[in-house]
This record gives sequence, C-alpha cells and structure tokens, in this order.
Amino acid sequence: MFKALLLQQTEGKTSASVTDVDYEQLPDGEVTVKVAYSSLNYKDGLAITGWGKIIRQFPMVPGIDFVGQVVNSSDVRYQTGDWVILTGWGVGENHWGGMAEFAKVKADWLVPMPRDCDVTKAMMIGTAGLTAMLCVQAIMEDDVTPDSGAVLVTGASGGVGSAAVTLLSALGYQVTASTGRIESNGELLRKLGANDVISRDEFTSPGRPLDKQRWAAVIDTVGEQTLATALAQLKYGGVAAICGLVGGYKLPTTVMPFILRGISLRGIDSVYCPTDKRIKAWNQALDILPETFYNRACQIISLTEVPKFAFDIINGNVTGRTIIKIS
Ligand code: NDP
Repeated sequence: MFKALLLQQTEGKTSASVTDVDYEQLPDGEVTVKVAYSSLNYKDGLAITGWGKIIRQFPMVPGIDFVGQVVNSSDVRYQTGDWVILTGWGVGENHWGGMAEFAKVKADWLVPMPRDCDVTKAMMIGTAGLTAMLCVQAIMEDDVTPDSGAVLVTGASGGVGSAAVTLLSALGYQVTASTGRIESNGELLRKLGANDVISRDEFTSPGRPLDKQRWAAVIDTVGEQTLATALAQLKYGGVAAICGLVGGYKLPTTVMPFILRGISLRGIDSVYCPTDKRIKAWNQALDILPETFYNRACQIISLTEVPKFAFDIINGNVTGRTIIKIS
C-alpha cells in the first residue's frame, strides 16, 4: 500500500482525502516512479475542488506535475534510480498523477532530470515555469527584444505569472506586472524583476478597439476582457502569448488591432508540447531563472494541506509556486 491524495465523486460532488492505495490500482505504464515532489497548479485546483470539469473518471489521483526516482522500468530509456520529471500529458486528469507516493506512467511522457537541476527546483518550475518559458520563447521568436518596449504580464502573482516576470526581467526586458494584489504582492513582484506594477482593474472594462499603444508584448494568463484590453494596447507588430483563462475563456475583441496594427496572437500549450521543445524549455528556464525566484516565489506544503490550498489557488489567493513534498 502507498499514500495518495484520492479524489472521489459522489452525487456530482468531488471530495479529496489522503488514502492508502494498493499498488495493484496503479494504472498501466512502462515506468514506475517514487514521487519526491508534486506541485499545485491552477488546473489541479480546479480538479481537486471539482470547480472545473477536469476529471472524468473517479477515483483519480490529481497532480499534473511530479519529480521522482524510477523504481521499475520496462523501457530502455529509463533505469532504476534515474531521476525524472513529468508535466502534462493528461496525467492527473485522465491518468493517475503526482500527488501520491508512487506513479506509473508512459516512458514517452517523462523528461530526464536536466543537468544543474535538483528535485525541489524541478517542481518550483513545473508546469507553470515551463509554460512561462514557452511564452517567453514565443515572443522572442516573434522578434520582440528588450529594446522593443515594455512587456505586460497578467495574473503576475500566480505560478505562470511570477515565473514569466522573473524570466523576462532576467533576459533584460522591461516588465509591467498586472495584479489584483498590489498591496500584498507589489514588493515581491518588483523583487522578482517587475519595473512597474499596475492594477488588473485597468483591464477589466471594455475600451476602444484601438487604445493607446503601450506594450511590445503581452504574456496573458487571464483571458476575457483583460486580454481584449491588452490586445487593443499592443504596439504595432506586437505579440500576445496566451496560455490561461483564470478570468474566463471568452475573448471579446475585434479584428482592429490585428489588421491595423499587425499584432499577433500566439497560443501556448505545455500539456502536449513535444519532448524536444520541452527539454529545450527546461534547460533554458534553468539557465535563466535566478536563485531569487526559488527563494522568494516558492513555498513547500504537505500532501494533507493540498485540499485547502486547492481552494486558495482557484480563489486567486496563492502567490507564486506551491510545491508538495511527497516523500
Ligand atoms: P495561479 O492561480 O497560480 O495564478 C493565476 C493568477 O491570476 C492569480 O495569482 C492572480 O494573480 C490572477 N487571478 C486570479 N483570479 C483572477 C481573476 N478572476 N481575474 C483576473 N486575474 C485573476 O495559476 P497558474 O499560474 O497555475 O495558471 C494560470 C492560468 O494559466 C490558468 O488558467 C491555467 O489553467 C493556465 N495554464 C495553462 C497552461 C498551458 O499549457 N496553456 C499551463 C499552465 C497554466 P494576481 O493576484 O497577481 O492578479
């Protein structure tokens, strides 16, 4: 038997509790991993609270991320004792995930532990950090340079947002952090590298289709009116790398900034991101992120604390990255 956070559903209501589970219940997969750490992402919050239709089959072990050591492998790429990372691929959604002492997964889903990485750093980056890195890569691919002007990050206090602020600043970009928590998190965001911290209220009312040009690029985790306003404020030729929907999934915009300012929208997905691109992003994130990110923007919790933190994250009350010590 091993310990797992198990999600059950009764009469449409999801419950989460730390439970002893039989090894036989582990799903199919070529590699069994003893999990060291998992992490809490917004999607995990939706799954654990049942606020989002993330899980279709119960019982389910949540946890879209984990890092751990291989204890059994039928795949030649992985040997017992190897350290591995998993993010995405539907794990913790439709395949038992990382919030348990053991996970059994497909070898194709794993990434070998990158050089210069340790177990805690791997989860402090996790899905959120990887996604932030992919967003930064996207704006760089579209020729946005530190000389192009300020880059706006929305949902800046969150996992993706705090990593994006830190990465951009470390690369020399001028960063404007948009947050709903200026008072409590403004100082932290500046310490992570934001040159300016502004209220998210600036983006919540519908404005003109073409607003004053403010941003060379936007990294958006919020969606809805926030993204629509930011698009209307993109400079000529600017780009928005979008990955999230904490404010909602709709996009009430017009074609105007696209056809009159030549702006573009880059959708970012980390879940099914191909392995070669992931490995590149992992190595880049590890190279770029300063120690201040790990020290200031990350906290460690236990498995039993996860249900409470799951409600906190979907209510927008968690700052930075939350990692879960499993064993
Ligand atoms: P977090 O909860 O850590 O961060 C979200 C932040 O958004 C909050 O900290 C808060 O920041 C802000 N926020 C919260 N609620 C609202 C609201 N109603 N309106 C406006 N802003 C709000 O989440 P993650 O960083 O883990 O994820 C962010 C988003 O990105 C989620 O939608 C997630 O599903 C998505 N995502 C997508 C991925 C992909 O591959 N496409 C991968 C990872 C995440 P503040 O207080 O500073 O305003």
